[in-house]
Amino acid sequence: MDHRLRRDRIAYRFDKSLEPVLEIDPGDRVTFETFDARTGTIRSDEDILDRPHPAGSNPATGPVLVRGARPGDGLCVEIESIELADAGFLAVKKGEGLLAERAGRYATRIVPVVDGVARFGDLRFPVLPMVGVVGTAPAGEPVSTSFAGPHGGNMDNKHVGPGARVHLPVAVPGALLGLGDVHAAMGDGEITFIGLEICAEVTVRVQVARGAGTKRPLVETADHWITTGEGDSLAAAARLAAGEMVDLLQERLGLGFEDAYMLSSAVVDVQICQCCEPGAFPVTTRAVVSKELVP
Ligand code: CA
Ligand code: CA
Repeated sequence: MDHRLRRDRIAYRFDKSLEPVLEIDPGDRVTFETFDARTGTIRSDEDILDRPHPAGSNPATGPVLVRGARPGDGLCVEIESIELADAGFLAVKKGEGLLAERAGRYATRIVPVVDGVARFGDLRFPVLPMVGVVGTAPAGEPVSTSFAGPHGGNMDNKHVGPGARVHLPVAVPGALLGLGDVHAAMGDGEITFIGLEICAEVTVRVQVARGAGTKRPLVETADHWITTGEGDSLAAAARLAAGEMVDLLQERLGLGFEDAYMLSSAVVDVQICQCCEPGAFPVTTRAVVSKELVP
């Protein structure tokens, strides 16, 4: 069955106590209308990001209850398509991002998107739509949609685009899936800590893997397996993603730790997703291996 969730059905946290806004069956398709990271409040170059949105940032549309999903199951969210709105925004926040000390004032630029091409003044570049925030409700305390963790959340992994499958743990009955913070484009590192933020419509198919849940998010594209990490530092986040990948190599290839560890050093890329505001936001990373090696 196909469903559509309106853009105003949002939450700013992954939280098991939230009332679901939609119930679906495994195998159903859902189109999530998503707000941009500032809940649609940035409409012109004069709208600077000098104060937080009162409700929070990175709203996730949902949560969606998946009937029959139980703790220990896996939730597979296959991204079928991402339709972008006709404009998004880039911005600088005073004193923030990787170049915080050089960012002396606020600036915003509305970026029209026409036929898959972003228009930054006279410059043109192709969009690479991705979902920044996707996750399930954790068993414990609620987690803000600004953060990432074992439940998913603000991973800002640019491989989470059309065709990708995001495998998420189910920690509470019904999983309580939420999704948002689409970027029309985002470079690794998210240097200012603001991607090309844009409203979108994300169509996904949701499946449940009975009793076969991962403990952490695992992303799958046509060509790659991608583990994820987050932490207070780049090293901590890289260690987590790499450790997940070595576990995957051990499990899928039947290797002992030392073999998987040495192999990882030859064939796995550890890459930065976002590394902009250690402390205030998580650093997130990914580790990537080819499916040619690991079926
Ligand atoms: Ca994000
Ligand atoms: Ca964002």
